[in-house]
Formats: sequence, structure tokens, C-alpha cells
Amino acid sequence: MQPHRQATYSQWQRAPDRPTRPVQLLLAGGGHAHLGVLREWIARPPQGMETCLVSSERHALYSGMIPGWVAGAVPLERMRIDLAPLAARAGARFIRASLGAVDAANRTVVLEDGETLPFDLLSVATGGDVDTSSLAELGERLLPVRPMHDFVARWPAVRSAVRAGRGQRIVVVGGGAAGVELALAAQRALAGSTAAPVVLLTDEPRLLPGHASRAGDFARTRLERARVEIVTGYGVGTPDGVLLADGRLIPAACVIAATGPRSPRWLRGSGLALDDGGFIAVGPDFRSVSQPCVFAAGDIAGRVDNRLSHNLSRSGVHAVRAGPVLAENLRRAARRDEAPLRHYRPRRHSLYLIATADGSAILSWGRAVMEGRWANCLKSRIDRRFVQRHARLGLGVAGAAWTR
Ligand SMILES: Cc1cc2nc3c(=O)[nH]c(=O)nc-3n(C[C@H](O)[C@H](O)[C@H](O)COP(=O)(O)OP(=O)(O)OC[C@H]3O[C@@H](n4cnc5c(N)ncnc54)[C@H](O)[C@@H]3O)c2cc1C
Repeated sequence: MQPHRQATYSQWQRAPDRPTRPVQLLLAGGGHAHLGVLREWIARPPQGMETCLVSSERHALYSGMIPGWVAGAVPLERMRIDLAPLAARAGARFIRASLGAVDAANRTVVLEDGETLPFDLLSVATGGDVDTSSLAELGERLLPVRPMHDFVARWPAVRSAVRAGRGQRIVVVGGGAAGVELALAAQRALAGSTAAPVVLLTDEPRLLPGHASRAGDFARTRLERARVEIVTGYGVGTPDGVLLADGRLIPAACVIAATGPRSPRWLRGSGLALDDGGFIAVGPDFRSVSQPCVFAAGDIAGRVDNRLSHNLSRSGVHAVRAGPVLAENLRRAARRDEAPLRHYRPRRHSLYLIATADGSAILSWGRAVMEGRWANCLKSRIDRRFVQRHARLGLGVAGAAWTR
């Protein structure tokens, strides 16, 4: 962990600059945890607080449905949540802009267009970037899965070009859930064309690391059945494709990077304590360990306390469950009362449903692994309900007035 300036919560509570006006809460990013905060604000409006949500896009895309969209099974409108009306219902101002820098000590953020926004409390849920460091040489052929809006904007043209060109291929890099799902989805999207089979490249011999080994076995069987070629090895990008450590080149028209989250550059000069991976170091209450007025949840945060009995993976599941705890802690922090902040205690096992683009899904919950069409029905129902729930909350609100 990087060195940082330590200020305790009680010092912050007693600070002389304690505002007497409404506390300015800045929610940076429309991530899952902030959807939870907005829901809580709608259900129980916060007192003595003015909230502003800044997010790079008006719509939050629901990542769990992206593979279904790639496979052609889910329309775009069904997997996006309009943040503007949701923020309006929550009494929050919405600004469509990207965060360019954070100055935690001076309590300001700078947007990419240069505007500076002050805050009393900052909560960050911007997710992470994709680690493409070894693939950068691919240039235009590289298609990182994040930012998801860029991925969604570019994929239709990639699919059309690969479908039209003879023997062209797509390489998906990453053997985790996102890589497996996207490889199967891309293969499904190219079915019936002259494109060469999709390649899934992973540097780990086991697919779906972090899940029971049976889940990886199921994934391998599904990939083989779908004729996705699985290549194990470490690859680096070249202008023509991916070069493996053994000297083999996999030519590719497009390389989809699903290589896991990387911390965004704008965090480096923020003055916030970061964990070893460069993410915002937080405790079990989502509060920055160095700045009591900063909170972070979801992929952008890294827990550095030792209260976890097991490894906490970065996933949408935890980002969603963080929402209510984060909301309560933001309320308490705004009041600066003596109530201790709540802790997020993750369940030992979380339910993961990995779609296989053939109408089935793999269910993984701790050591329990099953697969079938019923698992895909369950996944579709959970995903649909999540998006619809937020769409309904924003219904009847003219969101455009709050957007720029
Ligand atoms: C293809 C795919 C499928 C996945 N499927 C699953 C699954 O089924 N189950 C699961 O648990 N996990 C899944 N994951 C992982 C999951 O997507 C992440 O763990 C989760 O999205 C993290 O949520 P988050 O709230 O931290 O950030 P995100 O969901 O990434 O949200 C970040 C938000 O912040 C905004 N933003 C980003 N940068 C900025 C900026 N600089 N300034 C302002 N706003 C910004 C974005 O527009 C976005 O609205 C999947 C990931 C991928 C790539």
C-alpha cells in the first residue's frame, strides 16, 4: 500500500471546517453501489444534504447482460439504466461528465472538461479500467470490454467486418467469467458466417479461476462444444494479432480484452491511499483509510482491513450489495454524529450465473456447481428485474432537464 496522510474519523467529526450549510455529497460514477444510494434516497430522502451525481454516460450499462447482447439475445434498451430520472427522483443533480482528477486534501474533483466541483463528502463508484498493457500494440484491433459504452459502440462494426471477411478471427483474452461468456457469445454472433472460430486465450491452465474447478470443467466443455478454440499461454499484442510466449502468432481481426480491472490513471495524483493494485484503499465501511470524507465501493475500491475471512473478488454482486451499507454510512458521515459506521460483511459464497450463449448457464455457488437451461432462466430473471426495478423508479420523470 502507498504511504498516506492519516486522519481519523473522530478528528474529522470535530474539524473546525464542519459545514453549517447542507453537506455537499458528490457521487462519482453511476456504478451499482450508487444505484443503491439513489434507491435509498428515493425511499428515505436524506436530511441536510445536497447530492450531485457525476457519471461519464447518461445510461449505466448492466454488465451481466453484455454477453447476451453480443450474442444477439438482449436488445440494448433492456440492459441500460437511465441515470438522469433516477437522480431526479432521488433529489440529486445529475451531471454527465467524466472525472479527470481528485484532490482529496482540498475536497475538489476536476472533470475532464476542466470544471472543478467542490465536495464535503465524495463517494466513488466508477468501476475500473481494463488492463490492456500487454495488448496496446494491437492498435485499432484491440477492443477492451471497458469502458462498456465504447465496447457497445464498436462491437456491431467489428461483428459485421469479421462476418464479411473470409477466415477472419476474434481472440478473446481472459479466462474468467467475462472472457468465457464473451467468447461463447461472439462465437454465437458469428455462427453461419465464414469467420474462423473464436479463440479464447488464457494464461491460466484453469478456466474460471476463483470458482470451483468443476465450473471450469463445465465451461471448457461448453466452449469445445461451441467450437471455440482454447489456447493457454501468455500473449502480447502485435499489429497483426497476439504473439504467444512460444513464438506462435494468432492473427486476429479483433482482440477483445477481458483481462480484469485495472485502476484508472486519475487516481494516482489524488492523494488518496491506494492498495497494492492502485485501487482506493477502504475499510469495511467503504471509507478511505486516509481521507474520512471519501468513500468508495465496487471495483474501484480495495479493502485493506483484515476483517475479511476470505478473498473478496471484484464483482457486480458485491458492488450491488455495497449500496445500502454505503448509503447508510454516507448519511451518518453527513450528520457527523457519534454513530459508528456500518460494516459490509460479505457472505462467504455468492451466486454466479455464467451464460453459455446456447440457452444454458453454469451456476456456481461455493463448491456447488450445476448447469442447465433453468440456470439461464434464473439469470435472465435476476438481470431483467435489476434493470426494470431502476427503470420503474425513474418513470414519469423528465430526466433531460437534469442532464447536460
Ligand atoms: C462482460 C462482463 C460480464 C460480467 N458479468 C458479471 C456477472 O454476471 N456477475 C457479476 O457479479 N459480475 C459481473 N461482471 C463484473 C462486473 O461488471 C463488475 O464487477 C461491476 O460492474 C463493478 O461495478 P461498479 O459499480 O464498480 O462499476 P461499473 O458497473 O463499471 O460502473 C461504473 C460507472 O461509472 C461510470 N464511470 C466510469 N468512469 C468514470 C469517470 N471517470 N467519471 C465518471 N463516471 C465514470 C460508468 O459510466 C458507469 O456508469 C462482469 C463484467 C463484464 C466485463
